Amino acid sequence: MILLDGRKTSSNLKFEIAEEVSQMKLSGQSVPHLAAVLVGEDGASLTYVGSKVRSCQQVGFESTLLHLPNTISEDELLKQIELLNANGSIDGYIVQLPLPKHIDENKILMAIDPLKDVDGFHPSNFGKMALEMDTFIPATPFGIMELLERYKVETKGKHVVVVGRSQIVGRPMSILLSRKGNPGNATVTLMHSHTKHLSNITQQADIIVMALGIPKFLKADMVKDGVVIIDVGITRVPSDQNPKGYEILGDVDFEHVAPKSSYITPVPGGVGPMTIAMLLKNTLIACKRRQN
Ligand code: NDP
Repeated sequence: MILLDGRKTSSNLKFEIAEEVSQMKLSGQSVPHLAAVLVGEDGASLTYVGSKVRSCQQVGFESTLLHLPNTISEDELLKQIELLNANGSIDGYIVQLPLPKHIDENKILMAIDPLKDVDGFHPSNFGKMALEMDTFIPATPFGIMELLERYKVETKGKHVVVVGRSQIVGRPMSILLSRKGNPGNATVTLMHSHTKHLSNITQQADIIVMALGIPKFLKADMVKDGVVIIDVGITRVPSDQNPKGYEILGDVDFEHVAPKSSYITPVPGGVGPMTIAMLLKNTLIACKRRQN
């Protein structure tokens, strides 16, 4: 069994990005600039945005955090989005989700300039992804593709089962792996909460991507020997054994599934660290596109 080490891979990737940024500086170009919009004080969102800003500093990017109050109206937020679209010094930006309930998330995502949409959530970018055109790919699926590529995991002709059809993970993952190219050229089954006989299908899978958010859902008797496992799930569960008072669990019963697998991502340390690295990569791409 080979561990798909997201920590090591993301740190290699950040090193490569940092090298490229130094070259850009040396040649007098401006460095990539990522902005993050955070509305309110949600603890998990504060943590995620904080680590995105820190990662920008690590690779030499400029970063801007626009922290707005929970009470901001939809119209005021749309004005901020317009300002970010018009700001020539910002290459890309993200709007951290979830937004407060009085704000229509789709309306906000639709207002983002697709050329600055480094999360790849705008319908124009999502459509381009499905049409196999050059675009921004959502960071989590992009990170999984990068892991598969760097570890040379064969996907061509394989039966891939993706569990979970969210717009940020499961559905784009199913599209990416069914596209032409490498990684890709797989035969993909996309499953969700209405899927019947789920374990009959996972037992036939060569590669399983778990993205549903139910800890230890995938058990050893649901997979065949030699399977490749990508575990996207991150759930905080209370724990007396951890000084933090909680532990992070994936969607896979790692202890029992790992011995049957050929490759597997750990949680934490698998898909998670790749997500931020790919956001940086998208920002670098956005910057280069704007400069060319
Ligand atoms: P969502 O809650 O948006 O989607 C969950 C999906 O799982 C839905 O499609 C749902 O089906 C499906 N589902 C729920 N129960 C079952 C079931 N019993 N059998 C089959 N399918 C089921 O989740 P996300 O995609 O946003 O996130 C999934 C997990 O990945 C979470 O733990 C999240 O924290 C984690 N995550 C990790 C990231 C990372 O960087 N590592 C990034 C993003 C998410 P239906 O559509 O029918 O409701």
